[in-house]
Amino acid sequence: MAKVLILGAGIAGHTAALIAKRKLGKNHEIEMISPNSNYQWVPSNIWVGMGLMTPEQVKFELAPVYKKLGIKYKQALAISIHPDGDSKIKKGYVTIKYLIGDKKETEENIEYDYLINATGPKLNFAATEGLGPDKFSDSVCTYSHAANAWGNMQKCLSKMEKGEKQRFLIGTGHPMATCQGAAFEYSLNIAFEINKRKLNHLAEISWISNEYELGDFGMGGAYIKQGGYVTPTKIFAESIFKQYNISWIVGAGVYKVEKGLAHYETLDGEYHTKEFDFAMLIPSFAGSGMKAYNKDNEDITSTLFVPNGMMKVDADYSGKPYEEWNANDWPSIYKSPAYDNIYAAGIAFAPPHAMSKPMKSKNGTMIFPTPPRTGMPSGVIGRIVAENIAEKILTGTLDHKHKASMAKMGAACIVSAGYGIRHGQAAVMTVNPIVQDWDKYPKWGRNIADTVGEIGLAGHWMKLFMHYLFIYKAKAKPFWWMIPE
Ligand SMILES: Cc1cc2nc3c(=O)[nH]c(=O)nc-3n(C[C@H](O)[C@H](O)[C@H](O)COP(=O)(O)OP(=O)(O)OC[C@H]3O[C@@H](n4cnc5c(N)ncnc54)[C@H](O)[C@@H]3O)c2cc1C
Repeated sequence: MAKVLILGAGIAGHTAALIAKRKLGKNHEIEMISPNSNYQWVPSNIWVGMGLMTPEQVKFELAPVYKKLGIKYKQALAISIHPDGDSKIKKGYVTIKYLIGDKKETEENIEYDYLINATGPKLNFAATEGLGPDKFSDSVCTYSHAANAWGNMQKCLSKMEKGEKQRFLIGTGHPMATCQGAAFEYSLNIAFEINKRKLNHLAEISWISNEYELGDFGMGGAYIKQGGYVTPTKIFAESIFKQYNISWIVGAGVYKVEKGLAHYETLDGEYHTKEFDFAMLIPSFAGSGMKAYNKDNEDITSTLFVPNGMMKVDADYSGKPYEEWNANDWPSIYKSPAYDNIYAAGIAFAPPHAMSKPMKSKNGTMIFPTPPRTGMPSGVIGRIVAENIAEKILTGTLDHKHKASMAKMGAACIVSAGYGIRHGQAAVMTVNPIVQDWDKYPKWGRNIADTVGEIGLAGHWMKLFMHYLFIYKAKAKPFWWMIPE
């Protein structure tokens, strides 16, 4: 019997757990370690942040699902990996710490034959002074943050209803934050709601981001086919913002937030401030912060992880200059180069480099987005990692038949731009591949036939449909495996 241990029940890890169990059945053991008792469908947190969904609608208890499937589950935090075991435990193990319940604060060692690190991003609010829901800005990165943001937003809306002007500042809260798409989506939803309430004259909505130009989205922008014409995402995003009456500041690295005031540096080296009544700023992302030790208990964290805590996999980490970046730098099987039985899926893996051109301010501050890893690639990577491990276990093969390079796979993203069965809107964008491949597609960097963007009511229906579909799948309801990532 082989044991597959998965860390993190998010989009990547939960997908991996379901697939591994389905492939390996009762003869092998799957165990999940995750600190939150709930699964959350993160993309719908945008709607929680607008009061359009409740946290209950975007989350569900993991324990009953894992019980039904025969997956072991411990609600705990993984704190260190010991890939070689030690003097007492002769195989790889992970030390976990219980955060709640009778065992609170106690640690336990869990052995494994195969390990999948799917711990996602650590929301690194601490990297920006004053940032985050415990301080002076809001977040929609988790359902509780989003519910809190909606509480604060309601206060602004009621002030506007009494005739008071309110300033909304939405975007990135660190010079190298990613996930611009989520912030973009949230800004459009705010504008839509304000317009619906006929309060436009009392609203100032501003976008602030580390992107060199609007529409970069951390993927170096894209050329998309829209209505038969090829349009840069810069124009696509600018025209949406114009339509929604949102102004923008780009090339801006927010380095400090105070009550009602964001401080930022721009690429020209100038320092500025922006006042706000409500700010939702995405923090920088880091790895979960696990350590690693060898069998002599020496620290080998740098063997497994890059300095920001994300896990090294089969990517090119040579740090070569921007001009030499290549699609082949991107990983395809997500296996640790140091250990054949350790994998990383979703945001937990360290990308080889950014997708957006690195930019430095006149003061030497790096101001550009790090690469996003959205839900679809995170789920696909979780799936192929589980499939390859299952085949290794069942057939003894050392090959990795299933591959999922972000420089080869496409992804779809639906950016909600207003809620409502008759008047809702969403921008649907597909890119193929996610990471530009200028050798294969010298004109546009991507396959222009599959790289499209459209905005309309149909997109809203699709987004809503996907919310229910992916929660159905995550609950492992009948025929869940037929639903793609
Ligand atoms: C507001 C918002 C909106 C978004 N909208 C979209 C969208 O519309 N479309 C899209 O494609 N993508 C969207 N994304 C991105 C998408 O949510 C992510 O790509 C996806 O969640 C990444 O999956 P993951 O499994 O890597 O990480 P996560 O989903 O974050 O899961 C990580 C899991 O690991 C757990 N964990 C953390 N530390 C540890 C530890 N030490 N030990 C054990 N477990 C641990 C966490 O609790 C969590 O359960 C959005 C993101 C945000 C924040």
